[in-house]
Amino acid sequence: MQLTYRYRLYPSRAREQKLLATLDSCRWLYNHFLERLNQKEKGRTLSRRKLQATLPGLKRERPHLKQVHSKVLQMVLHQLYSNLRALAELKRNGRKVGRLRFKGRGWFKSFTYNQSGFKIVEGNGKRRELWLSKIGEIPIVLHRELDGEVKQVHIKRERSGKWFVCFSVEVEEAPKVRKVSTPIGIDLGITHYIADTNGNFAEHQHNVTKSEWRLKREQRRLSRKKRGSKNRAKQRFKLALVHERIRNQRLDFLHKLSRHYVNGHDFIAVEDLGVKELIEMAHNGKNRADAAWATFLHMLTYKAERAGRWVVKVEPRGTTDRCSRCGEIVEKPLWVRVHKCPNCGLELDRDLNAARNILQDGLNKIGWEPAEFAPVEIGPLPARASSVVEAGSPAL
Ligand SMILES: [Zn+2]
Repeated sequence: MQLTYRYRLYPSRAREQKLLATLDSCRWLYNHFLERLNQKEKGRTLSRRKLQATLPGLKRERPHLKQVHSKVLQMVLHQLYSNLRALAELKRNGRKVGRLRFKGRGWFKSFTYNQSGFKIVEGNGKRRELWLSKIGEIPIVLHRELDGEVKQVHIKRERSGKWFVCFSVEVEEAPKVRKVSTPIGIDLGITHYIADTNGNFAEHQHNVTKSEWRLKREQRRLSRKKRGSKNRAKQRFKLALVHERIRNQRLDFLHKLSRHYVNGHDFIAVEDLGVKELIEMAHNGKNRADAAWATFLHMLTYKAERAGRWVVKVEPRGTTDRCSRCGEIVEKPLWVRVHKCPNCGLELDRDLNAARNILQDGLNKIGWEPAEFAPVEIGPLPARASSVVEAGSPAL
């Protein structure tokens, strides 16, 4: 399986110049290839192989391309083709799409080393250096342990001007545990972000982050600045920092939450989000929670695979209305927070009832009897991420 690790880079001024020059060369090449694709030769579009074959000649004509690692240049073509594929895919799905656009300055944000041209300088501790061919060493802080063989290195400049690296790593899956002893079911809810069968709840992030308020303030300030002015550019940068901070807080929280479940439980039942979206989100308009859920389930899944734990996805239909003790269907609108069963008398939080059903369905799916397990107390959920920013970054 493939994992991606993301870290912040801390280039010196001289290295940053080289990074920016590389971005610009790649941007030039991208636009050049796109132009060649648009102008047909003898009525036919050039093949990808033929385009790649023009690279050596191009390098002679444009010496700035020689300052870029050759694999990085090839990956520009790869990027162009995957953009074309994505566009074709949208078209197939009946979306109205235009053509690929040329990338203006500032719109080309990343480049990629594939298989070669990079190295993490050996050493102890978190502070290391990433060596990139034609660029040099750049300090990096490995705030999370990087484990596995690095196949690809993706360098990205964010709107805030910060540089990041994503390592694509190939790792082996651990064999699944044979005997389940600490199963848990998780319900993804509209009022609670998450409810689990241990009775733990996590709330929606956007209800609580202070940054949300800050975001609104900075957006308001931006709208008051004159178009094209220096102050507007400055304000846009400020806004980008707030967006970045919110994103980091959210990711940090989801990492902690998924880690909590994978460390404490060898069997985790969740809802199949694809189906859930169809039945619930349809009535609630665009819910910002769904994107974060998808990220959470993704984190949960790959962490579990690494650790040999089960993540089983179940059909969400009916999990809310069904009584988790006797199976009676107790229909309830969204605003009814408590499940009250007229048949067996069970009374508990509606999301907790749903979580129990999800766990039951998950265990049924792989053929285990839920009755074999007593609920296990694992401890409280991780506290909400308060002001955790990318490790080692200066205070904002
Ligand atoms: Zn009942």
